[in-house]
Amino acid sequence: MALLQLRGLNKHFGGLHVTNQVNLSFETGEIHCLIGPNGAGKSTLFRLILGEYAPGSGEIFFAGENITALKSFARIARGLSVKFQVPGVFKGLSVRQNLEIALQRTRHGAELDQEIDRLLAFLGLEAEQKQTAGNLSHGQKQWLEIGMATSLKPRMLLLDEPTAGMSPEETFQTGEMVKRLNAGGMTVLAIEHDMAFVRQVAQRVTVLHLGQVFAQGSIDDIVADERVAAIYLGQAHHHA
Ligand code: ADP
Ligand code: MG
Ligand code: MG
Repeated sequence: MALLQLRGLNKHFGGLHVTNQVNLSFETGEIHCLIGPNGAGKSTLFRLILGEYAPGSGEIFFAGENITALKSFARIARGLSVKFQVPGVFKGLSVRQNLEIALQRTRHGAELDQEIDRLLAFLGLEAEQKQTAGNLSHGQKQWLEIGMATSLKPRMLLLDEPTAGMSPEETFQTGEMVKRLNAGGMTVLAIEHDMAFVRQVAQRVTVLHLGQVFAQGSIDDIVADERVAAIYLGQAHHHA
């Protein structure tokens, strides 16, 4: 069953059609990677899904419900969560306090402490829990933000370039983290550029190009597709 469906989604800024008739379905339980050259419209698609932008036309369905007119907070309440590209942690607060902020509205007392401990172990940040978040490594900051984005156990997690700036080792650990979240029942949609990460986690891959769905398939299908290789080399022609 499709958990998230985008139907004929259009978004333009002035004359620039950033997403152009995008139809996409994301299945319950899958890990799906969204790839495509810089400027393809990937982050804009995330902002449309979260409700930070209103589409010019088209509809968004989540768990069978038309959420196109809902505000972001209402979408989050229904189980959508996004981690954007730039880490949004509170730099002056400790790792533990950051997780506390993410959880404090839904957990209290001993239950809150236990849940923070569980998250710290999951993120591999137990030793850093008293450190200020601003002093974490880049990779650790990204993990803390994944922890904050998943603390309320969303049905679907959107990740915008989660491994940008990470070492290969950190990238691999992030992939394992994403797979464990998925094994726990979370549907994941990740924008990625690192093909090793895509191969590690993705069950399906969609290529976005010039605001349109250009190709879709397994990672093997995608890397074998010469049309996809061509757009990364900048050789593809603009198509209407
Ligand atoms: P990607 O994430 O695939 O790199 P984006 O969705 O960030 O692509 O951007 C796609 C295109 O839309 C780019 O040309 C970008 O400059 C443009 N764009 C994105 N947001 C805005 C905005 N708020 N106003 C005007 N143009 C925008
Ligand atoms: Mg970009
Ligand atoms: Mg982007």
